[in-house]
Amino acid sequence: MFDYLIVGAGFAGSVLAERLAAIADKKVLIVDIRNHIAGNAYDCYNEAGLLIHKYGPHIFHTNSRPVFEYLSQFTAWRPYEHRVLASVDGQLVPIPINLDTINKLYGSTLTAFEVEQFFASIAEPKETIRTSEDVVVSQVGRELYEKFFRNYTRKQWGIDPSELDKSVTARVPTRTNRDDRYFTDTYQAMPLHGYTRMFERMLSHPNIKIMLNTDYRDIVDIIPHQEMIFTGPIDLFFNYCYGKLPYRSLEFKHETINASNYQPAPVVNYPNEHLYTRITEFKYLTGQDHPKTSIVYEYPQAEGDPYYPVPRPDNTELYKQYKALADNLPQVHFVGRLATYKYYNMDQVVAQALTLFKTLQERDHLTPHLAPDRPFATLGS
Ligand code: FAD
Ligand code: UDP
Repeated sequence: MFDYLIVGAGFAGSVLAERLAAIADKKVLIVDIRNHIAGNAYDCYNEAGLLIHKYGPHIFHTNSRPVFEYLSQFTAWRPYEHRVLASVDGQLVPIPINLDTINKLYGSTLTAFEVEQFFASIAEPKETIRTSEDVVVSQVGRELYEKFFRNYTRKQWGIDPSELDKSVTARVPTRTNRDDRYFTDTYQAMPLHGYTRMFERMLSHPNIKIMLNTDYRDIVDIIPHQEMIFTGPIDLFFNYCYGKLPYRSLEFKHETINASNYQPAPVVNYPNEHLYTRITEFKYLTGQDHPKTSIVYEYPQAEGDPYYPVPRPDNTELYKQYKALADNLPQVHFVGRLATYKYYNMDQVVAQALTLFKTLQERDHLTPHLAPDRPFATLGS
């Protein structure tokens, strides 16, 4: 009898497996439908010996000290600050839009103060910022919105920014200084030996059994367990009873190039050209020294593995219907990007999983008679 069946060996499932096994001394079975652990953060060496991220570039950044310290138990870090260029009007310019972006794009020599005035002169103020279009147009006006955001977003999400919640493009700030880092978080680093190695260390505990290549639906009624932690898509869990929640997918096209360097930045975004959104060159992220280099193109798709929840009001409403069902199942805990239908970064998922662990611990301490080490305890009754 397992105390917990954990569905999904990504950040959400693995953090909970580790905490429950190591701190609460629970017996855990973690299953994943894929043939590897680490979920979308999975990295591996390709046939040329280059470390690549199978599911696209994963850059770790957080302002949360507890999250960084928690993960630091399982990995050393390589300091890394991410930088991105966008291909616009035949030039490669920094994104997030900053002082240098404007000066390069318009051949100007504005100062930080002047660029602030420039933005103020072209911005279209909005009373309420509701959509992803509103966010950008209210800060930098329509022309820059169209050059950098409109087409990229339509490509990535399959809908116009005016139909997406503001939170999507609000991930990318506007700056009047020359800071060309993609993120400004306190902690920015890559796991020194990769994400998969970090996950291996998290999951290497005698209380944790790992089962790969397994759809949980094939074993859930066969393998006895007290409680479940579910990190897959919430609509799948409920057999799509209210209809499918939309997720955006990607096709990753990996290539190894017979040269030591491919492009002048870790990521180059292509808002207005090509069917792909961006190209990532992994060596910048991993720091690997190698005579060849490896890149990945991201082609957005409607169908395929679910990668991105699509933040817009009607989807949030549909998710709430599923959440109401989930709230009625006290022995199943929904956590992570797919199970809570939130466009979360890795650190947010780690924080969410640590919070759930704390809640479970408090519950078990407060009501030990309901703790799952008593077989078939009826929770919530
Ligand atoms: P996942 O990693 O998706 O894990 C869920 C697991 O459940 C999967 O392994 C899946 O196989 C398994 N599963 C699903 N259904 C079943 C089933 N029926 N049976 C068994 N197992 C099942 N975040 C950052 O912080 N920085 C970045 O730079 C960054 N870049 C990203 C780039 C891309 C292209 C994408 C798609 C995401 C990126 N993210 C990034 C987000 C990051 O991937 C997620 O926040 C994180 O991986 C979510 O972890 P999770 O455990 O919730 O989900
Ligand atoms: N975005 C854009 N142009 C860019 C970069 C981002 O329009 O050059 C928009 C786009 O809608 C994207 C969102 O901002 O989906 C968030 O960008 P981010 O780089 O955070 O996306 P992720 O890495 O999560 O795919």
